Amino acid sequence: MEFLNTYRGRLTLRSFGLMLFVPVLLLMAAGGLMFAKISLSLDRQAENLRAATMEKLLSEQRAAVNIGNLRYSIHTLGVTENPNTAREAYIDAWAVLSESLLDKRPGIRDRANDLQQRIIANRPIRIRLDETVSRLYDDWHVFFSKLHMIANHTGYVFSEAELEHFGRFDLFNAAGPEMHERIEEIKRHWGQACRLAVDGHTKDLCYEAVQSIHSLTLNNAEFSRVSADFREDVKGMQQSLADLTACYIQIENSQLLKEVEGLTDLAHQYRPLVVLPVATVVIMLIFIICAVRTIIVPIRKTVHDVNRFETDGVMPPPARPSLITEINALIAWLTDFCLLSRAEKEKAMLIEKKYSKLETRASTDTLTGVANRRAFEDTKARFPELPAGTGMLMIDIDDFKAINDSMGHPFGDRILAALGPVLRRSVSPRDTVYRYGGEEFCVLLASCGYESLFTAGEHILEAVRSISRETAEVSPGNSAEVPLTVSVGMTLIGPDEPPQCFDALVEAADGALYAAKRTGKNRAVFAPAAAKR
Ligand code: GH3
Ligand code: MG
Ligand code: MG
Repeated sequence: MEFLNTYRGRLTLRSFGLMLFVPVLLLMAAGGLMFAKISLSLDRQAENLRAATMEKLLSEQRAAVNIGNLRYSIHTLGVTENPNTAREAYIDAWAVLSESLLDKRPGIRDRANDLQQRIIANRPIRIRLDETVSRLYDDWHVFFSKLHMIANHTGYVFSEAELEHFGRFDLFNAAGPEMHERIEEIKRHWGQACRLAVDGHTKDLCYEAVQSIHSLTLNNAEFSRVSADFREDVKGMQQSLADLTACYIQIENSQLLKEVEGLTDLAHQYRPLVVLPVATVVIMLIFIICAVRTIIVPIRKTVHDVNRFETDGVMPPPARPSLITEINALIAWLTDFCLLSRAEKEKAMLIEKKYSKLETRASTDTLTGVANRRAFEDTKARFPELPAGTGMLMIDIDDFKAINDSMGHPFGDRILAALGPVLRRSVSPRDTVYRYGGEEFCVLLASCGYESLFTAGEHILEAVRSISRETAEVSPGNSAEVPLTVSVGMTLIGPDEPPQCFDALVEAADGALYAAKRTGKNRAVFAPAAAKR
């Protein structure tokens, strides 16, 4: 309420502006934080990507060099006629493959292993091929030297071109069909030279040359077979190398794809942030519109009115309430409402307090301070039937008339005033003491047994004796010299008895009181509650 009072009618243009501006500032701060976070995250991502790319680049370079070396080695061992060069090519290919065999990426190891097995299997074929070529060389040289000797003996003349043609050619690559053609050609020269042979030695040479040609032909046929096998095998190696290369490319592509997907995910993650600038723009717009409506428009209107008043003398119309005025009015109304409701509440509480005070006063006996007859009747109306365990004591001052007569009526009142508190103190706070009428009192005991009923009766007799019959003074715990005495009638609805009506209990207690008076007063007499309902 104090808060409302403080702010009542205080909503100024500045506070209104602040109300709009603060959310914008908060939004902008939140946006700044978000963007800083995105920027850091992107930096980290870029750094990761750079490291991954560098590593990938190195591995790709290594893979590319390895693949290039392998291709070169396989090509070399396929085309070289030099057995040493071929052997080195095998060793190189093997060494390069050893690295690929350690590569744990899926597929690489299997393919590298396949290629290695092919290289191992190819090596004996190459050895056989080299041996065949070597034999072919030997045969060719033997035959050619013999043909020279035959030509020298017979005077057969080879042209320079023919000698060049037969003497120098790459046997490894020319073997096979080309070699076969040359054999046929050389056989022709051999026939012509041998036809000129006349002496026996030359004829022997011709015969030996025939055997060389025969061996040459056989070796050439062997070469053709082994070479075909070898070249087929080399093709297989090249195919296996192509598989290995494709596997490397596929793995690199999939890695690249994964990185691209990571970047796409990042972009998706930050897409909702697009809302932030939009919200900022919307709030800024609202802010601008409000500022225009609350500041610029009223100022322009005022200027316009003043001008009109100066020129035409027209009085400006009364200003329409602005938004701020309306909000102020609303706050004032709310404040009034709250204040009013608090005042009403306080009033109601006051009335309630007064009412309860009045009620207490109305049900209390002014002289004795205990509950009065009206309260007794109220209790009877509320509980017309009393449950088991309810006890009642009816108390009457002995010879009170004589006290009044001898000491005066006001003294009698003092006796009554002293007796009320004594009776109240004699029973438990649960039990209620009523002034039943005149000098007669009634105590209603709740949750009571026979023992506690008798104890209460005795207790009252003893407590009353502390009041002096001569002075009306009370000496607690002691019996007065000339003590006041009372007679008590007790009754109880026993624990096993059915509920009794209120009047039946009063009647029983009254009966017991009468008996106490009759049998000498200053005593407590019990009478069972009559079964009258
Ligand atoms: P008993 O022992 O048989 O009860 O004799 P008692 O004299 O007490 O009985 P009784 O009913 O004859 O007298 C009751 C008297 O109590 C009569 C009346 O004047 C007196 N009395 C009743 N109300 C008041 C009161 O408020 N003030 C005073 N001073 N006396 C009262
Ligand atoms: Mg009496
Ligand atoms: Mg009496």
